Amino acid sequence: MNKKRISIFGATGSVGQNTLDLISRDRDSYEIVVLTAGSNIDLLIKAALEFKPQAVVAATNDQFEELKNALRNTQINIGTGREALLESASRKCDLAFSAIVGAAGLEPGLIALENGADLALANKESMVAAGDLVKQKASKNKCKLIPVDSEHSAIFQALHGENVNSIERVILTASGGAFRDWTIEEIAKATPEQASTHPNWNMGQRITIDSASMFNKALEVIEAKELFNLASKQIEVLVHPQSIVHAIVGFCDGGMLAHLGPPDMRHAIGYALNYPNRKTLPLEKLDFTKSSTLTFVEPDEERFPAISLAYDVMDLGGISGAVFNAAKETALDGFLAKQIGFLEMSIIVEKTIAEICHLKNCHKTEMCLSNILDIDKLSRNFATELIQMQGS
Ligand code: NDP
Repeated sequence: MNKKRISIFGATGSVGQNTLDLISRDRDSYEIVVLTAGSNIDLLIKAALEFKPQAVVAATNDQFEELKNALRNTQINIGTGREALLESASRKCDLAFSAIVGAAGLEPGLIALENGADLALANKESMVAAGDLVKQKASKNKCKLIPVDSEHSAIFQALHGENVNSIERVILTASGGAFRDWTIEEIAKATPEQASTHPNWNMGQRITIDSASMFNKALEVIEAKELFNLASKQIEVLVHPQSIVHAIVGFCDGGMLAHLGPPDMRHAIGYALNYPNRKTLPLEKLDFTKSSTLTFVEPDEERFPAISLAYDVMDLGGISGAVFNAAKETALDGFLAKQIGFLEMSIIVEKTIAEICHLKNCHKTEMCLSNILDIDKLSRNFATELIQMQGS
């Protein structure tokens, strides 16, 4: 049996580690081509020694000598820095996991597609900032885009064998995050530590805080529009505190298909890893006699304004999603550095959209990588200035 050749960009993160966990249980089926980290050299070395990839890269760490020293008795090719990361993305593989957090994940994914790999897409920021570009690259190189985000994996699975033209609407569920039941006054005073805990999912810190602000769901709404070529009015969000139903697709004949599963990312990761087949996964089985209550409510726009910003961005179109994402990442940095409060994040994002999208005519701008990177930089600079003004 041919082994599936896998590269993992963001191997030291939550998605990356879950992917390696599944691979470690079924080693005969996979061969690891590339593993990358940001700066967590220790975890990268551990994974490299265990999985023996062709190459490893630490993208934001310049401790080349330390890495080389630790892997000196292996044949593993070693790189550090952004260039090395991009170069590693051109190594031939069958499936590349795009599991870097933030817009930094866009280019490795595009390069992997350019080199013929199917893309297991956890990095939602790629679709938000440059959905058309990613889709064009996949289609030109006859590569598949396989969603890893649990809601999008759920939709992808529900659409198997269906005609996408018969979709009437799609419902993305949201856990509601850490502040689901907090008052707006309490949320205004929330600290990064409080925002970094999630009631149901175990994820990286940035997506966990994005879940608390619902910016994560906002990104996912745009991601769903792009991945499944939907109109924004076809996408709805419901808060579902149990995180058992991940998404629901409603069809034109009134039928609805829901995808259910335990809140464990290894389901969506395993589905992408083995697509188009399914394999047994080490997941808890749902027992409906024990957890039989499934509830759904509309998100509260006043406490969580991020979602309506996503609809504004979809209406604007063009490369406005790149502005939204860059402003959101910068505002999150500001919150983590305690320069701004929790609710100020959405104010920074809204103001950046208002200024940059209109100033730069984002709705008319051609979607190409250089335009995306330029607007990303401009938006980050503008949002940073706003944050600094806030602090002064
Ligand atoms: P983590 O923060 O846990 O991991 C992020 C990974 O990206 C790490 O390997 C990190 O390296 C690496 N990284 C960070 N910055 C850079 C950079 N500038 N250049 C190169 N590599 C970098 O994130 P998650 O695993 O939680 O999320 C990854 C992506 O998947 C995100 O887009 C997220 O929205 C999405 N996602 C995550 C889910 C989850 O369950 N965690 C669920 C659904 C989607 P290091 O740690 O070594 O610095």
